[in-house]
Amino acid sequence: MTAPAQEPHTTPSTGTHQQVGGAAHAPETVLSASGLRKTYLLGRVKVPVLHGVDFSLSRGEFVAVLGSSGSGKSTLLHLLGGLDSPDTHNGGTISYRGKNLRSLSSHALDRYRAREAGFVFQFYHLLPELTVLQNVAVAAMVRWGLGYYREKSRVRSQTRALLEEVGLGHRLEHLPSELSGGERQRVAIARSLINNPSLLLADEPTGNLDRATGDTILDMLCRLRAARALSMVVVTHDPHTAARADRVVRLVDGRVTDAQPL
Ligand code: ADP
Ligand code: MG
Repeated sequence: MTAPAQEPHTTPSTGTHQQVGGAAHAPETVLSASGLRKTYLLGRVKVPVLHGVDFSLSRGEFVAVLGSSGSGKSTLLHLLGGLDSPDTHNGGTISYRGKNLRSLSSHALDRYRAREAGFVFQFYHLLPELTVLQNVAVAAMVRWGLGYYREKSRVRSQTRALLEEVGLGHRLEHLPSELSGGERQRVAIARSLINNPSLLLADEPTGNLDRATGDTILDMLCRLRAARALSMVVVTHDPHTAARADRVVRLVDGRVTDAQPL
């Protein structure tokens, strides 16, 4: 998937759209979902979670998805990140830069997951037996496949630089078990960005952290987003986190109920 040649200029820190040559450009929608439905099967029992979610994210925008526990926030984020699929029948569509994820070949979907959509899991999901450096490099291995060995020295120096950028330059050889929660989340964020995605999808990135640590993680996410012109979706049940977003949507009873600036 390649970006269109002409794209509107976006101010990453605010998500607002500048005028170019005197004409206002409409925001480019990078990610959208329409009528999303997701039903889990627990044995033979159907557990409907999303009942027709509509969602859109403009280029450079930071959208917070608020919702109570169990409202389907993680489910929605997994679908947006191509980690799971909507219902086969009547499940709705997800489009990234105009392409329906469902129409992608499995190779193209792999590329979307590996290169376009960085994902930060709520519980970090670091590999316990790998060091900090290896945990981040492994995402680059997935991206490059066998080509990784050709790229290895460049990727390793990028990995080091990124880990320094997230404040972990002094922890490269540590194991996840030797890190605090905030440090683990920094590793997870570095891993999500090592392949230079244009989207960052974060699942309650501050949910397991104390307020002060959560604030530094959120500051860091906002800084990284501005520096890399990322479009970002953060799901949270914390209004304090949502207050940092350009736009907030709420997930209630399996639907997005409103969209409003805070
Ligand atoms: P949230 O992230 O908002 O807390 P989730 O998306 O994790 O909510 O879950 C929404 C609902 O779907 C919950 O009721 C949860 O129990 C159910 N659920 C999530 N994953 C599965 C699964 N793999 N199988 C069955 N039910 C699930
Ligand atoms: Mg969740």
